[in-house]
Amino acid sequence: MKKGKILCLLFTVLFLFFTLSSCLQIDISLNDSIKSSPETSSATLPESQDENSSMDSSVSESPDKSSTENNTPPPLPEGSAFAVHFIDVGQADAALVLCDGKSMLIDGGNRADGDLIYTYLQKQSLSYLDYVVCTHPDEDHVGGLAAALTCADAGTVYCPVTSYSSKAFTNFADKAAERGLELVRPEPGTVFSLGSAQVTVLAPLADYDDNNNQSIVLRIVYGETSFLFTGDAARESEADMLESGAVLQSTVLKVGHHGSESSTTYPFLREVNPQYAVISVGKDNSYGHPTEEALSRLRDAGVQVFRTDMQGDIICTSDGKTVTFTTQRGSGAVTNPTEEETTGSGEQGGDEYRYIGNLNSKKFHLPTCASLPAEENRIYFLTREEAVEAGYTPCGVCQP
Ligand SMILES: [Zn+2]
Ligand SMILES: [Zn+2]
Repeated sequence: MKKGKILCLLFTVLFLFFTLSSCLQIDISLNDSIKSSPETSSATLPESQDENSSMDSSVSESPDKSSTENNTPPPLPEGSAFAVHFIDVGQADAALVLCDGKSMLIDGGNRADGDLIYTYLQKQSLSYLDYVVCTHPDEDHVGGLAAALTCADAGTVYCPVTSYSSKAFTNFADKAAERGLELVRPEPGTVFSLGSAQVTVLAPLADYDDNNNQSIVLRIVYGETSFLFTGDAARESEADMLESGAVLQSTVLKVGHHGSESSTTYPFLREVNPQYAVISVGKDNSYGHPTEEALSRLRDAGVQVFRTDMQGDIICTSDGKTVTFTTQRGSGAVTNPTEEETTGSGEQGGDEYRYIGNLNSKKFHLPTCASLPAEENRIYFLTREEAVEAGYTPCGVCQP
């Protein structure tokens, strides 16, 4: 009798336990399937990590819950239009964002680009810019902004600093003052509208010693498409943005610091998860921008790259669902060649190659070696591995 009762109780407890745990399991798996439903069909990398389940943020390769779900933008009004003009200012940055009759100029190229910026704004019939953003006071960003403010009045001028000792910055600050405009350092988290587009300030999140890290970073959302403007922000700022938990996911990434290797780090790129990247860079610049490091990360992430050095002005329009690119030239340009494609073309000169091989002796050297082969007997390698794989042995003098 008693045994039976105990057994009965035991079974009841076991039954309850299993029912409960299976219920929980269903709950968990349901939750998972919602979370992993992709936001867009082309999403290949994990989405934003903010407030999503902490268990899969670091390992999951499948996209998490839609990040735009939290701030679903209102439907776009009839006749709404959005465009970004990445103006070719050589080794510098300048982008004009236009939406529903509103405008924002993000950087203005070098001082030498002043005329170009002035003419560009005139051609767009812009005598008023709603926002002028100086991402940071380096000349290749602030240089042409004085000319912009000569051509057009402005509503708000954003800049991470209010004073900086350089001719380019002083010209800009003086021109702003002449217009009665204050230089405002925007707080991260500030949100403002540009027509139907919504702009969020993501950085700078700290006071960095480095000018580039001081860059104002903006994320613009237009319908279901989004754009990230990073200025010259480097890995420290990228890490802080990741830490902040802000939504970074963007359809288009304006690549940080002209494709320098210290920007566009893997964790940042994974979070931004762009389909397209634009690199504002000068042909044959002395910095070696864009670097193979940044380009290879973009290749690994399957991002389609546009470059002002190869394609001139790049105009990106959005209908709120898809983005379309138009380039001034070089529509078929190989903007992000693999190492093989680069060495194969053999036209790029020796500067960006780390190793120089001798076609006759099959030895390879550092570009600084005293016993380099004659020009016509050279083969260039980007990496040591590449030289070794091609059957070349290191030179005994420079010991590459
Ligand atoms: Zn800079
Ligand atoms: Zn720069």
